[in-house]
Amino acid sequence: MAAGRLTVLAGPTAVGKGSVSAYVREHFPKVWLSVSVTTRPPRPTEVDGIHYRFIDDATFERMRADGDLLEWAVVHGRAKYGTPRGPVIEAIAAGLSPLLEIDLQGARQVRESMPEALFVFLDPPSWDELVRRLIGRGTESRDEREARLATARVELAAADEFDVRIVNDDVQRAAEELVSLMG
Ligand code: 5GP
Repeated sequence: MAAGRLTVLAGPTAVGKGSVSAYVREHFPKVWLSVSVTTRPPRPTEVDGIHYRFIDDATFERMRADGDLLEWAVVHGRAKYGTPRGPVIEAIAAGLSPLLEIDLQGARQVRESMPEALFVFLDPPSWDELVRRLIGRGTESRDEREARLATARVELAAADEFDVRIVNDDVQRAAEELVSLMG
């Protein structure tokens, strides 16, 4: 794997970006997974500092104003999400390959500031399967699910902007394909 190359992984809600990233984090120590900040509350299974840093709006706005975020976005019209800049720079300096799991708006911002990065889009095997995964996750209300599916349609329509597309038919297979592309 080429040291220090930044990779952006995007894709629609519930496609399995989190599972693929978690697999990569566990099995490929040279990949450094960025921990985003977010203003949304944690889900029961999420750990502060591992899945996200859960912060309040004032803290988010301070980070944004201070230029501490490499990119940021309001996702699904609700919460704010952002990538802290400092740790990414440190990871690159340490020879690690940073992986950012972010949305389409964030990916476009990184494309502006770091065009040399690798942009990967994670596809569901089908639209029906995506809906099944979202319902199966059971973490969103019906309204939230509708909002996420609306965003998913927009994201899927933009998939060709990415350098590569990977189908998440199997988490291990997709993770291994991702890491082989980072090399
Ligand atoms: P969730 O709330 O389900 O964890 O994430 C919702 C969406 O926010 C996902 O599409 C995820 O990729 C995106 N997201 C997570 N962290 C960031 C970030 O730091 N920046 C941006 N732009 N999107 C993010």
